[in-house]
Amino acid sequence: PELPAARVRGTFLDFFRKEHGHLLVPSSPVRPRGDPSLLFVNAGMNQFKPILLGTADPRSEMASYRRVTNSQKCVRAGGKHNDLEDVGRDLTHHTFFEMLGNWSFGDYFKEEACRMAWSLLTEHYGIPADRLYVSYFAGDAASGLPADEETRQIWLDIGVPPRRLLPFGLKENFWEMGDSGPCGPCTEIHYDHIGGRDAATLVNTDSPDVVEIWNLVFMQYNREVDQSLLLLPQFSVDTGMGLERLVNILQGKRSNYDTDLFTPLLHAIHQISRVRPYSGRTGAADVGKVDMAYRVVADHIRTLSVCIADGIHPGMSGAELVLRRILRRAVRFCVEVLQTPQGALASLVPTVSHILGDVYPELHREADRVTDIINENEAHFLSSLQQGSRLILRTLNSVDYKHGVFPASVAWSLHRDLGFPLDLVDLMLEERGVQVDRQELDRLITESHKVKLYSDVLNVETLTPVMLDVLSLAELQRLGVPHTDDGLKYQY
Ligand code: ATP
Ligand code: MG
Ligand code: MG
Ligand code: MG
Repeated sequence: PELPAARVRGTFLDFFRKEHGHLLVPSSPVRPRGDPSLLFVNAGMNQFKPILLGTADPRSEMASYRRVTNSQKCVRAGGKHNDLEDVGRDLTHHTFFEMLGNWSFGDYFKEEACRMAWSLLTEHYGIPADRLYVSYFAGDAASGLPADEETRQIWLDIGVPPRRLLPFGLKENFWEMGDSGPCGPCTEIHYDHIGGRDAATLVNTDSPDVVEIWNLVFMQYNREVDQSLLLLPQFSVDTGMGLERLVNILQGKRSNYDTDLFTPLLHAIHQISRVRPYSGRTGAADVGKVDMAYRVVADHIRTLSVCIADGIHPGMSGAELVLRRILRRAVRFCVEVLQTPQGALASLVPTVSHILGDVYPELHREADRVTDIINENEAHFLSSLQQGSRLILRTLNSVDYKHGVFPASVAWSLHRDLGFPLDLVDLMLEERGVQVDRQELDRLITESHKVKLYSDVLNVETLTPVMLDVLSLAELQRLGVPHTDDGLKYQY
C-alpha cells in the first residue's frame, strides 16, 4: 500500500517525539507485571499505572516521565475489556491489537491534548475534518460526576461544529482500566467511513460505518476496590488509538482485515487451506462460515504469537486458560471450516513475525518456541475435537433431541470430558441455529464450581459425595474461600 502500517505507526511516534518533546517508551509485555487486577495488558496506560497513582519508586526512571509516547501490544480477551466474542463477527475488534498513545503526567492537560490529536489526524494524516465526530462526557448525576463542559469548549474553539460534538454517559465516556484502578472522563474521536451526510446518530452504535478511533482520557480519579472514587495526586492525560483502525482509514479500506497488517496472513491461510480465498463477507449468515473463519484464525494467531512470546502459555487458569480457549477456537476453525491439515496454525507464526517482528523483536526471537507450543497444544486437542463434533451431530440427530434446545448435559460433557471451551460450544451450536439449555448449564457450572472449591479447600484429588455432605457452603464462607459470580466466569 501507498502508506504502509509501519509508516502510520512511525508518523504517530515521530509526531509526539520530535514535534512535541515526548519520550518514546517501548511496549511492555502483554503479561501484566505485579497487577493482579488484570489478566492481560489491555491498554497503553497499564505500565504507567504507578505514575498515575503516585506510587512509582522515586528512584526509578519512570518517576521522571512527564511526556511519553508508545505503541503498546494489547490483548482484550478477558476481564473488564473482553472482545473475544466480537472477533470474526465485525471488522474492527481484535483480541490482540496495537494501541498508539501519548501521555502527560502532570504536564499538559485537556487543551494541548485535544489540539495535538486534531492536528495529527487532520494535518499530518490528512483525514478530512468533516468525517470526524467527537464525543465528550455528559456527566453522571448518580455518581456525582459533572459534565465535561471544559472539553466541549476546547473542541468548539478548535473548530469542531456543535452538531459533530456529542455528549455520552459513563459507559462510553468515562474510561476505566478494570474493576479498580485509574479512571476519568474521556473524549473520543470517531470516523465516518461514508461521508457526505450527517452521521451523528451512528456514533457509538457499533455501526461498521462510523468507528471509534481515538480515546483521550483525562485521568483524575482512582476507582478503589470498594468502588468509591478518590482524586489522584496529580491529573494526567492518557490517550489510546487503535493502529489497525487508523491504518484501515488511511489505506482507504472498510475493514481492518484489508490492510497490510492482515492481508499477508489471509494469503498464508489460503495457501494451507482447501477453501476459496477470503472475500470479506460479514453478517449473521456468515457466522461460522469461511470468511469469519479467516478472520478468527488471522486474529487468534497474532494473539497466540504475542502472548506465548511474552510467556503466557495455554494453560488451566487465568490468562493461560483464556489463551487455551483462543487456541482451541483457532484449531477448530482451521480444521473444520478451512479444512487445513495438522500443523497449519503454527505454520502461520513466521507470517506474524514478518508483519510485526521489526517492531516487537521478541516475535522473531521466540518464533521457534511459539511454533512448538502451538503444535503441541493443537495435537492435544485434535482427537477430542473430532469426538466432540461427532457427539454434537449425534445429539442433534437423536430421537429425544427437542428442536432448538441443546441438552446441557452434553454441552457440559463436551467441556469437562473433551476440553471444549464452553464459548466454542456456544458458537458451534449457534452456527446450527441451536441454543444450549442455558439455565441447566449454569446450574451444572455452579455445582462443579462448588465441587472445585471444596476440593481446593480439602486439597484432595477426588471428592466423595460424603465429603460434600460434610462441608457446607456456610463452612466454605467460614474458611474464607472466595466464590464470587465473577470467579465463575473467569474459571470457564
Ligand atoms: P470500542 O467501543 O470500539 O469497543 P473501546 O471504547 O472499548 O472501543 P478504548 O478502551 O477506548 O476502546 O481503547 C482506545 C482505542 O483502542 C479505541 O478507540 C480503538 O481505536 C482501539 N481498540 C479498542 N478495542 C479494540 C479492539 N478490540 N481491537 C482493535 N482496536 C481496539
Ligand atoms: Mg470496547
Ligand atoms: Mg467505545
Ligand atoms: Mg473508547
